[in-house]
Amino acid sequence: MAKKKLVKDMTTQQRRTRQHKTNADSPLWRRKALSMWSEMVRLLASYECELCKAPASEVQLQAHHLLPKERYQWLMFAPINGVCLCTQCHKHSRYAAHRNPIFFAVWLKANQPEKYKWVLQHVHDEVQKSVVFQRAYNYLYARALALGWDPARKT
Ligand SMILES: [Zn+2]
Repeated sequence: MAKKKLVKDMTTQQRRTRQHKTNADSPLWRRKALSMWSEMVRLLASYECELCKAPASEVQLQAHHLLPKERYQWLMFAPINGVCLCTQCHKHSRYAAHRNPIFFAVWLKANQPEKYKWVLQHVHDEVQKSVVFQRAYNYLYARALALGWDPARKT
């Protein structure tokens, strides 16, 4: 019978992995929750680039944070804080969100006024508040399922 490994016998890496699995605030759960958030943003956009309308079958889709996750930690898992973009519209083209933020803000205001309004309402309170990553992950996972999301899609 395989005996469960004692913590003292584990390598540093194994100990770290174990710690991450059990610690709801670990970098592992942060990554998992961010990936689930990205999946949720793409799901809500019906898996197409919201800017150029290219479908997931033709381009690689990413989720763009409107309010950056480093400075707005407690908003980094809010689906309303995300826009689904292809890699070109996200980072590379002349009008990409990261290269041309003024164009992007004008586009957002014209095409998604509710989201634009939400950003303006939250842009000033740049305060760090802690979030529990595991809870964020579970919340997003359950919400995505309720919206008809297929977990087999998840990368
Ligand atoms: Zn695009």
